[in-house]
Amino acid sequence: MIQILVILLWILLFIFGMCFFSFLNVVIYRVPKKISFAGGRSFCPSCKNPLKGRDMVPVFSYLFLRGRCRYCGAKISPRYPLVELLGGISAVFCMYCFGNVTDGVFHFSVQPVLIFLFLAVLTAVAFIDLDTMEIPNGLVLAAAVCGLASIPFFPEISLTSRIIGIFSVSVPLLVMTLLIPGAFGGGDIKLMAACGLILGWQLSYLAAFLAIVTGGIYGIYLLAARKKDRKDHFAFGPFLCVGMAVSVFWGQAILKWYFSFII
Ligand SMILES: [Zn+2]
Repeated sequence: MIQILVILLWILLFIFGMCFFSFLNVVIYRVPKKISFAGGRSFCPSCKNPLKGRDMVPVFSYLFLRGRCRYCGAKISPRYPLVELLGGISAVFCMYCFGNVTDGVFHFSVQPVLIFLFLAVLTAVAFIDLDTMEIPNGLVLAAAVCGLASIPFFPEISLTSRIIGIFSVSVPLLVMTLLIPGAFGGGDIKLMAACGLILGWQLSYLAAFLAIVTGGIYGIYLLAARKKDRKDHFAFGPFLCVGMAVSVFWGQAILKWYFSFII
């Protein structure tokens, strides 16, 4: 009996994560278009028909409607349910890694909530940058607020490390952009300054390293496949966001593994 309740608890957490990221889909869609994301009904981007509750159940509505709008039949991007799934996975993962879990039951604590909100900001940044090649300042600010709020709850990342973190990646990116105009966007630089506060300098470096390696491989692929010209740009924000998400969960383990070779 207890076992079933425990499983139910985690399923509820998963559903909560999906619902929260369903709201994030709205943010990703509306913020670049300067539509308020707080008020107003959700609507189909094709026919502008307002959506009913049954059209907005995370993941299930998409599956039930077979990926098409109920009213006009326009294809719905699979990105919406994928972002929702990501939300469910993030919620469970944050609780599992940072939560106060005893015998499978979790109790309220601030740490997993903060990391979950940080991941939500990173997800919004990644997709908005992908769509528009811009990172909204509001999201940079939200990342900085997560960083400030995290100071008392993650004492293992010292204040000194956090302050150095603000500059450790952002300043090199800024210098490179001054030397090679357009190397990185202003949004990337501001984002890394804000996130340095939550990650500290070690994890910031790791995140930037992961982003440069994966982004570099992607850039080479684009050149090889002749999808882009040498002069063209692609959004680097998503690579930074993935790098930071990996660093949040596995950063300490990766650094420990890496330094075990050196020392
Ligand atoms: Zn429609």
